[in-house]
Amino acid sequence: MLEKLLASRMDNLNTESAFQILARAKALEAQGRSIIHMEIGQPDFPTPRHIIEAAYRALNEGYTGYSPTPGYPQAREAIAEYAARHKKIKTSMEEVVIVPGGKPVIFYTMLMLVEPGDEVICPNPSFPIYESCIRFAGGVPVPVPLTMENDFSVDIELFKKSLSPRTKLVLLNNPANPTGGVIPKETIRAIADALKEYPNVFVLSDEIYDRLVYDGEVTSIASVPGMKDRTIILDGFSKTYSMTGWRLGYGILHPELAQRMELLMVNSNSCAASFTQMAAIEALGGPQDAVEAMVAAFRERRDFLAAALNTIPGIICPVPMGAFYVFPDISRLGLSSETFAARLLNEAGVAALSGASFGSFGEGHIRLSYATGLEDIKIAVQRIGEFASKLQGA
Ligand code: PLP
Repeated sequence: MLEKLLASRMDNLNTESAFQILARAKALEAQGRSIIHMEIGQPDFPTPRHIIEAAYRALNEGYTGYSPTPGYPQAREAIAEYAARHKKIKTSMEEVVIVPGGKPVIFYTMLMLVEPGDEVICPNPSFPIYESCIRFAGGVPVPVPLTMENDFSVDIELFKKSLSPRTKLVLLNNPANPTGGVIPKETIRAIADALKEYPNVFVLSDEIYDRLVYDGEVTSIASVPGMKDRTIILDGFSKTYSMTGWRLGYGILHPELAQRMELLMVNSNSCAASFTQMAAIEALGGPQDAVEAMVAAFRERRDFLAAALNTIPGIICPVPMGAFYVFPDISRLGLSSETFAARLLNEAGVAALSGASFGSFGEGHIRLSYATGLEDIKIAVQRIGEFASKLQGA
C-alpha cells in the first residue's frame, strides 16, 4: 500500500551492504555466536585525544549554536591550508563547504550536476552509494571496470571508450573502496588529458582514504594543471582521524559550485555541528602522530592478512596499496560472492561483504576490512581457511 504512495524516485535509491551485514552479524552475536567483524569500513582506533579535548573546549566556549551554513571561516581556512599542504592544491575558503560527513558531497554533487539521462562514469566495483545517488538524480552510471589484472587502477583505454557526448561527470576514488587500489600519477594525468576534449565534464574526486597509503603516492586530479576548476574534491575526517560518528566532511569546489552546495546544505542540514568544526581545526593543524601510528598498524595488518589469505588454496589476494580493505578473488572456490559471504558469516562466523555488492565487476571477490585488531584477523584467517577447505572437500 505505502509502496504506491511513495514518489517513484525512491525506487532508484539503493543501500550500503556494509550496514546490512553489520546488522545481520550483530543479530547472530545476540544469539551467542562468535563473529569477527570485517564488514564495516570504520577504523577501530579511538578519535585522538587532542581532537576530543578541542571539542570539549569548543562546547565549553559556547560553540553550541548554528554556524554559518558552509562552516566557520576559520575551519574552512584550515581545510584550504591543509589541501595546499597535503593535496598540493592552491585553494581558498570560498572553495570549501563543510558538510556532515563525506557522503553528502556525493549526494549534493549528483543533485547539483546530473540531469535525467546524463551519463556518469563510475568505477566498478566501487562504493555503492555512488551508483545509488547517480540513479536517484536520474543519471545513467557508465561502469569502468577495475580488475585485479590492472592492479585495480583505471584502464585508460577503457576510460576513453566510456566517454561520450552525454558524459556529465566522472567519479574517481583514490585510494579505492573496496579494492584498496591506488591510481598511479601517470594514469591520473592521462585521465585529465582525455578530459581536455570534454570541457563540460566535471570530476568528483573522492579522496577520503588519501592519508591511508602504504605503497606509491596518491595524486589528486585537482592538482593537474587545468583540472581544479572542474573537480569537486570529497574528503573528511571519518577515516583519517577515526571520526566516523562525528559526521564531518567537506567538499572543495569552484566558488560558484560551492555556493550551490551551500544552497543544498541550507535546505537540508543548515550547517555541520559547530563544535565538531572547531575540533576539525585541531585535527588538521595539531599533531599527526596518531594518524601515523594508525597507518603503521594498518600496514602490519595488511601485510599479514594478504600473505595469510594467499596461503589458502583457492584464494588469491592482491596486496592493496591503500585504504583498509583487501579484495581477494574467491571465484575458484565455486560459489558466487554473495553466497560465499553469506555462508562465511553463517557457517564460519566471519562478516565480510560480497564483491558484487560493489558492482557487477566485483563478482568473484569478497571485501574484508582490516580495520579490526590483528588477533581477530588471525582468527578470521583461520576460519576462512577452514571454510575454504570444507568447500573444496564438498
Ligand atoms: N567515500 C568512500 C569511498 C567511503 O568508503 C566512505 C565511507 O565508507 C565515504 C565516502 C563516506 O564517508 P563518511 O562516513 O564521512 O560519510
